Amino acid sequence: MASLPELPGVSTLSKYVTRVLGQNPGKFTLQGTNTYLVYHPASPSLLLLDTTGPSSASPLSSSALQTYLSSLRSAIASHPTQPARITDIILTHWHRDHTAAVGDVVRMLAKLNGAEEAKVRVWKFPCATGEGGSSDAWKSERTKDAELERDLEGLGGNELERTSDGTALHTLRAGQQFSLAPSGASPATNNTEDGVEFEVVHTPGHTSDSICVLLRDLSSSSPSSSATSPLALFTADTVLGHGTAVFASLSAYLSSLASLIDLLSTSGSAPIPLYPGHGEVVTDGLAKIKEYKTHREDREKQVVEALKAVEGGEAVTAGELTDSIYADTIPSSLKLAATHGLLLHLEKLREEGRVGRVAQPSPEGLDLGAAGGGGEVQIPQGWFDGWRWVEASEAVEGRL
Ligand SMILES: [Zn+2]
Ligand SMILES: [Zn+2]
Repeated sequence: MASLPELPGVSTLSKYVTRVLGQNPGKFTLQGTNTYLVYHPASPSLLLLDTTGPSSASPLSSSALQTYLSSLRSAIASHPTQPARITDIILTHWHRDHTAAVGDVVRMLAKLNGAEEAKVRVWKFPCATGEGGSSDAWKSERTKDAELERDLEGLGGNELERTSDGTALHTLRAGQQFSLAPSGASPATNNTEDGVEFEVVHTPGHTSDSICVLLRDLSSSSPSSSATSPLALFTADTVLGHGTAVFASLSAYLSSLASLIDLLSTSGSAPIPLYPGHGEVVTDGLAKIKEYKTHREDREKQVVEALKAVEGGEAVTAGELTDSIYADTIPSSLKLAATHGLLLHLEKLREEGRVGRVAQPSPEGLDLGAAGGGGEVQIPQGWFDGWRWVEASEAVEGRL
């Protein structure tokens, strides 16, 4: 990738949003994780969207963590209405580069606020549990909420507000709203003429629990209408500031992109910015999301054409398909990643009954259990299998 623009440690993005960089740059985290303070300037209460943490390709040293925490402190200190405090931390998904430092942030805030004022709440949309026929794509995520909960076990009642069940994580719901009203206008009285509102949108694909958050301007709505104009969309890792996103389930990912397009299409003519989980602000959000969707649809067409072109309708492996689609257009160092991407397309086409999978035993001497169990290297399902184009009716019979 071409070199990325440098991002400052703290940037004021609008009247309502300040970005604090996670200080964990790397191959997957780009300039580092973007964490966002969201607020009304006339209210002392701030929301924090995401924290920081290491990822598989980027460590977070203790000095980098201290830099992040002190950036956060200075951003809180420069808030116009004092004494300002973070009341809620909202996590966009379980990935460690967004969640690992939650405990550190909570402890820092408790010290900053003093014991009586503490009580920050931590919110997260639950990972798919595997019940209700949920996709295999989410299998590895079933334990992630419990792991995060264990991380937060040691936090005391003066640091963190727990749920009535005693858990540290409060469960986010799709459509849940957080009101950011000026002081004196209690959210309960709905006196939010000049307020902004923060609404949770569940957008699975990158992970099962990924959310985006829509920031809405309540002052623009007339009392008779519930229509309010979006000010910005926080996209976490569903849409990034540079390059393309990765995802666990392509079919879920494409539906999520389609619903985001709907959400932004209903707004007026002014482009809505995206505030991504990594990388610079995207000024025209709708255009970027459409571009992501088109990119995936084009790749799907290539996969379908390549499978249809296989003589005799024989099964080919994802690796062979990579060679036929990419040929020499990408360096061999990128072929594994490309094959991984194609597998997600093949799995989506299989779910739709358009492609058949012919199971093949994995090569001898390769211990898939060890590779998949907790290590960094995971061999994706279907890596060694054959894939072939089938007529829809044949695929349905094949499944019976
Ligand atoms: Zn992520
Ligand atoms: Zn991330």
